[in-house]
Amino acid sequence: MSVEVFVSIAENINEVRSRITAAALRAGRKDLEAIKLLAVTKTVEIGPMEEALAAGISCFGENRVQELVRKAPYFTQEIEWHLIGHLQTNKVKQAVNQAALIHSLDSVKLAQVISESAKAQELRVPVLVQVNVSGEESKFGLEPQEVLDFLQEIAHYPGISVKGLMTMAPRVADPEEARPVFRGLAELSKQIRQRDLPEVSMQWLSMGMSNDFEIAVEEGANLVRVGSGIFGPRR
Ligand SMILES: *Cc1c(COP(=O)(O)O)cnc(C)c1O
Repeated sequence: MSVEVFVSIAENINEVRSRITAAALRAGRKDLEAIKLLAVTKTVEIGPMEEALAAGISCFGENRVQELVRKAPYFTQEIEWHLIGHLQTNKVKQAVNQAALIHSLDSVKLAQVISESAKAQELRVPVLVQVNVSGEESKFGLEPQEVLDFLQEIAHYPGISVKGLMTMAPRVADPEEARPVFRGLAELSKQIRQRDLPEVSMQWLSMGMSNDFEIAVEEGANLVRVGSGIFGPRR
């Protein structure tokens, strides 16, 4: 008979936070407070999400707009909802209404639709540009060499405000193998910052998930997206 060891969500969160801090210190980072832990709540129900809030989490990441919209009314707390998954243009209106940050801007068309929808609601929506650094065909995102032109094209759209970059590393057995992907995104962010494009900020570097967030933090991530590391394996 197997013995189930109960580990609470609060304990997981503390563990993830201390591993983030340790990774940042290893890399000699001085901006520890600036590193934000986004609790990824796709497929997670309301109870565990309440537990995460009680343990000090203040932002949730969902990858589907429908799920975000379904869950948001259950909470009365001030919560920052982030949309981290691929966004279809027919879901933009709801995303614009609810999301504090959209991590998955990956086309001019989507930028146009987001901007128009936001403008109609008198909003300016913060977005991150998703970059496919690893070049895997299964991944969404622009190729790194396309990003600068893309930003020059969309930066002046009135309803969006570019706040940084996001990437997903390939699933690898050894997270160390993901390091070049994170380093590549950090480097790209630095290059863009040097261009000093109007209306473009490189405030956020969204990278690192349960498997690889320590490597991402060592490479400069300041927005870390952790799901199963907090809530346990997804169904
Ligand atoms: C699911 C998901 C995560 C979190 O994945 P875990 O491995 O559970 O930490 C992070 N980012 C994106 C875009 C996701 O879809």
